[in-house]
Amino acid sequence: MFQSSIIELSKSAFKNNLKFLKSVLHNGAEYCSVIKGNAYGHGINVFLPLAESCGVRHFAVFDADEALRAVKCRCEKSDLMIMGAIDDAAAVEWAIENNVSFYIFENQRLQCAIDAAERVGKPARIHLEVETGLNRMGLQDTQIDNAIDLIKHNADKLELEGLCTHYAGAESIANYVRIQKQLETYTHLSKRLKLAGLTFKHHHTACSAAVLRYPETHMDLVRVGIAQYGFWPTKETEMDYHLRQRGEQPKPNVSVLRRVLRWSSRVMSIKNVGPGEFIGYGNSYMTEKKQKLAAVPVGYFHGFSRGLSNLGMVLVRGRRAPVVGLVNMNMVMVDVSHVPEVGKGDEVVIIGKQKKAQIDVASFSDLSRVLNYEILVRLPSEIPRVVVR
Ligand SMILES: *Cc1c(COP(=O)(O)O)cnc(C)c1O
Repeated sequence: MFQSSIIELSKSAFKNNLKFLKSVLHNGAEYCSVIKGNAYGHGINVFLPLAESCGVRHFAVFDADEALRAVKCRCEKSDLMIMGAIDDAAAVEWAIENNVSFYIFENQRLQCAIDAAERVGKPARIHLEVETGLNRMGLQDTQIDNAIDLIKHNADKLELEGLCTHYAGAESIANYVRIQKQLETYTHLSKRLKLAGLTFKHHHTACSAAVLRYPETHMDLVRVGIAQYGFWPTKETEMDYHLRQRGEQPKPNVSVLRRVLRWSSRVMSIKNVGPGEFIGYGNSYMTEKKQKLAAVPVGYFHGFSRGLSNLGMVLVRGRRAPVVGLVNMNMVMVDVSHVPEVGKGDEVVIIGKQKKAQIDVASFSDLSRVLNYEILVRLPSEIPRVVVR
């Protein structure tokens, strides 16, 4: 490993988040950890075993390729489900053979699952995803009768793992009415399927924001992504949670969400520049006085957005140091004039804590107007991930 930066995953932070999230869960709903997008940039191959070591036994990915990666690195016989793309027959057969469950949102795919189960000689474990108002994926009302027929005629080839849907933005109160309608539609469809004689092992609808905001959506399984990594889905969700906690007893031995990820690099070189000089390409930054500048080997190639040119901050020796000039492909220059005894090889924190200072992905994204989610998943998979206490 000769990488210019490193990502550390904190086991104690993840443990805390898990404890916090479970304390919020209604009626002890089962916990499913969402690890799509390379575990939101945390790295599937490192994050999954970490989560398993903390007792998580259920994971959700987006596609068959991620499922394959997850199957390779799981240590326990953890349950896996594919919430999105699994398109060719070979992938469906692979999933059935490996006990991986997957979403069904079209009758064509249902038929494909039945055929594959027949060939493999083992039932397909499916989650029926119903359309409730997100209008993205999900079986439409008009397709449901057909699906019921298909399922009933092939009962021996299918295991009904779940009945599910996904909300259209539970992280914003602006969507309140839409979410309530979705929940109503889901409840109605759930009854309809039950009356038709179908029983599902799990009913699941909630993502992080719904877990934090709408207890009635928890049912018996929740799918948590962003929050388990220590990020609130939005500032609004965080405020809403704290407002509702006012007057309640704080939970013993558990704090609210703590960030799992810390991304750091090192000072590559230092130079002193006189006043009135332009720094780096072009003329976007000119020194005002004699300044000390450090080169840090992290650039937009590594997911440090070019939008952070003259805006971003990093930490050096516990102090905030601003990015000066344009973010380059492989490096940035930061002003360290105010950092005493700064030297080559000093640790530079791009996201996370250093001494008492901290840089949040959230503040990072406020600056460049990119969502938490997007910044995280853009962290290249080549940066090494290691677990720390
Ligand atoms: C991504 C995703 C989740 C998790 O969402 P978070 O907001 O990160 O908790 C849950 N369900 C589905 C279907 C998803 O695609």
